[in-house]
Parts: sequence; C-alpha cells; structure tokens
Amino acid sequence: MKHLLNDPSLWREAAFIGGEWISSTAHGNYPVRNPVDQSVLVELPRCREAEVQSAIVAADAAFRTWRATTARHRADVLRQWYELIVTNKEDLAILITLEEGKPLAEARGEIDYAASFVRWFSEEATRVRGDVIAGARDTQRILTLREPIGVCAAITPWNFPAAMITRKAGPALAAGCTMVVKPASQTPLSALALAALAQRAGVPAGVFSVVTGNDTRAIGGELTSHPLIRKLTFTGSTEVGRMLLGQAADTIKKCSMELGGNAPFIVFDDANLDAAAEGIVAAKFRNTGQACISANRVLIQSGVYDEIARRVVERVAALRIGNGLEPGVQVGPLIDAGALAKVEEHVADALAQGAALLHGGRRLALGDSFYEPTVLAGVTRTMRIAREETFGPIAALFRFETDDDAIAMANDTEYGLAAYLYSRDAARIWRNAARIEAGMVGINCGLISNEVAPFGGVKQSGLGREGSHLGIDEFTEVKYLCWDGLAVA
Ligand code: NAP
Repeated sequence: MKHLLNDPSLWREAAFIGGEWISSTAHGNYPVRNPVDQSVLVELPRCREAEVQSAIVAADAAFRTWRATTARHRADVLRQWYELIVTNKEDLAILITLEEGKPLAEARGEIDYAASFVRWFSEEATRVRGDVIAGARDTQRILTLREPIGVCAAITPWNFPAAMITRKAGPALAAGCTMVVKPASQTPLSALALAALAQRAGVPAGVFSVVTGNDTRAIGGELTSHPLIRKLTFTGSTEVGRMLLGQAADTIKKCSMELGGNAPFIVFDDANLDAAAEGIVAAKFRNTGQACISANRVLIQSGVYDEIARRVVERVAALRIGNGLEPGVQVGPLIDAGALAKVEEHVADALAQGAALLHGGRRLALGDSFYEPTVLAGVTRTMRIAREETFGPIAALFRFETDDDAIAMANDTEYGLAAYLYSRDAARIWRNAARIEAGMVGINCGLISNEVAPFGGVKQSGLGREGSHLGIDEFTEVKYLCWDGLAVA
C-alpha cells in the first residue's frame, strides 16, 4: 500500500525514539490491519518497557534545551511542521483511510483539523504570559510565570489517528514541553508520518517520540509510572481513562482526560426541520458513528417526531457505503469485528425491548466490519443504546413531550461531553443550554470541533480542555515569585 503515497518516505515501518527510527526490538513485530478486509498493512516493532524508557530519557534530555529556546523559535518550528502537514495532506489522508477506514473525504477533513492545531499553537506559543500582582506588603512584588510542565506522555485513540495527536503535541511543544506518544496500536501509521514531518520541520531529537506496539499494558504502565513523566494526556474510553488516572496517582502526575460521550441531540418542535435532519446525519454518521461527540441519543419532541424520523431515514438511505478509498463513499467500515458485534448487540437489545427498525439493521457483505447505517425509533432509557456509547452507525430516536423531560433525559447519563440543541427560539435555547450537563453544546449545529474552541467534557467525560487559548495551559505550571525588599521610599 506504500505505493499509494506520493512520498513513500511517509510510510514508516519503525518506531521513532529519541530522533532515531527503531525498526526492531527484542519482542518482534505486530501486524497493523486494514479495517476493510483485515489484510495486514504493515508489521511494526513491539516496543515495551525498555523502549519507552529510552524515549522518556531522551525526552528529558531534550526538554532542557527545548524549554530554553525562545517562544518565537518554537513557533517557527511548529509553523514549518504545519506547512509540511498541509503539503502532504493527500498522503496523510490515505494513511488514515488505510488504517482507520474513514472515507478519504473525511480523512482529508481530519488532516485539515489536525494541521489547524499545529498552526493555532504555533501562534499561541508566543502568547504565554504571567502576571504581576499587588504585593501583600509594601516591600513585596508578586509575579507569576507560566513554565512548561516537562516531559509529557500522550496516549491516543484510533478514531482520529492524526488530530488526537496534534491536539496534544501542538500545545505541548509550543509551551516548551517534550512528548512521548503511544498511538492506538491499530492506527500507528499516521503518528509515524507526523513524526517524520516533525523531524523534517526541525523538531529536535527527543522532543517528539512515537512508541509503537500492542503490549498496551506494558507501554501504558511505564508511561503512567515513570517519575520523569510530569503530565499524562489521554484520549480514549472512560473505562481506560479511569484506570490510567489511578496508575498516574502514585507519582502525582498532572492529567488531562478526553473520554467517552453519550451525546444527546435534542430537536424541539420549533426547530428548522431540514437543518435538524442534516445535523443528525452529520453528527451521527461521520466516521461511521465512531466519534466521542457522535449523537448517541436523538431526542425529538412529539409534534415533529414523525417528520424528523422520515427526513432522517430519507437521508440515511441515500448514504453510500464501502471502502473509503473509493470515490463517493460516505460511510466506511467499523474499526474491527468487535466493534461490529457491539453494534449488533445494541440493535438486538433495542428491538427486543420494543424499538422499531425504520432503516438498516444488518451487517453488509462488503467485509467483516461493515454495518448498514440504521435508524431505530421508539428507543427508551432502559435500552443499552441509551446508556452506553454505541460507537456505530445507529441513529436512536427517543420521543419527549416537554423541555423539562428533554433535559432530564439528556442528563440521565454518567457522561457529559457534547450535546446538541435545535430550536429557533433564542430564549428557549439559552435556558436549556444552561441546564445541560455537557462541556460542549452545538446550537443549530451538528459539527462543533475546531481549533479555536475549548474541547472537553464534564462528569465522567473527562478533565481539562484541548484547543483554544486554554489548551496550552494544560502543559504549563504556574510559578509564583515573591520578591521582597522593594520598598520605594
Ligand atoms: P481505548 O480503548 O480507551 O484506547 C485508547 C488508547 O488507550 C489506545 O492507545 C489504547 O491502546 C490505550 N489503552 C487501552 N488500554 C490501555 C491500558 N490498559 N494502558 C494503557 N493504555 C491503554 O479507546 P479507543 O477504543 O481507542 O477509542 C474510542 C474511545 O475514545 C471512545 O470511548 C471515544 O469516546 C473516546 N474518544 C474521546 C475523545 C475526546 O476528545 N473526548 C476523542 C476521541 C475518542 P491500544 O490501541 O494499544 O489498545
């Protein structure tokens, strides 16, 4: 598949540790598979504790010099990395489609999104600032500095193999930190291509390393326990995040957690129905439903329920499914057979409890992990789909009568990542947006991710924010200087 790239040197078959490409370890290799047909794309080195330690030691050494560079210098290096990502957009998009399965058009969108974080934080690098505070005595002045926290560990998921890395590495490197990334074992090729471009952009050896491998607990154990790691930034499931927080507690690491979601998508009876139906399809079927902010529960007010259902089915029936490399394909495979089995279980459970199948509801013969985009009506809170992240192409339609019902249903979950509200009444939107327990609320808008906005959740959806002017704070510590003996008279 390397032959599909314009620049085959972006196809890397080695881990990137301390500025060196490591093509073998004592533990052999593991296969990375194409979700379309499970064919092996590449065999990559299995890193374990020793390789992670090497990456951490190199990152610690690099930190001393990287943190001492000027913010302008780091901004320029990041800008160069951004330019290279944009120049190589097509190759990077092909890598995402090959290893993750999303259609090429969406993969290109992910590269734009990934690059936007590098550009944004190249700009934010020069805007990190402290404060001067009136002293507690007339002889004192109080200053605060924002300093880079140190060596950071990043553990990232497979569903956005490029953007979930740059959303962390952009601010970390801008602040003067160094980073060791453990990409998802199913999608390391994007991470390695990004590392190759970072190297070309002039990111010094050790500042950004990528450890490959599928000995997940060994790699994760080292990253969460090593005393030189000062910060853990994780994106993935709530279950794994909870465990990593526990592991990081022993060495009191600063942690940011971007975890799972169970987003409610609320359509009030005064909504623009076409816009709402469009929004549902965009928020639900992007990446085959495998997004943390995917509309897991579509809550529709009674008066417009049947009409919204009809318009959603009409749009879903027109979606083209297949290999993401084929032109015009809008929905690709699920990541693997396990993901498909979960989707099937959620649909079977909903139907057994009385939901109605309006469209889809079956696996497709295109491969082992293709599932037909599906619409279920009459979904209720006791069904699994209401409580768990489905992570698949299933639009689950719930019915509500009043605003109070909708908000109670929306908040009836341990998660609090994204929510969506559709209405033309500004006061109603304002009132309900205030009552929703979520870190992000899309208002008449189904696509809410961008680099200028703070991304993150409340409740068990996470800790901290990524992107925006807040994103860089997660990679700094405040140091306070109390300067005495400064009496003016
Ligand atoms: P996951 O199973 O939690 O895995 C995420 C990462 O954690 C992967 O790199 C995985 O490595 C690693 N991991 C798993 N078990 C580990 C352990 N015991 N120790 C150390 N690392 C471990 O999640 P996923 O299936 O890749 O991604 C889907 C989840 O991510 C969903 O819940 C989704 O909502 C969430 N997500 C959240 C956001 C957000 O911004 N809030 C964005 C995207 C996705 P391996 O690949 O080697 O297993």
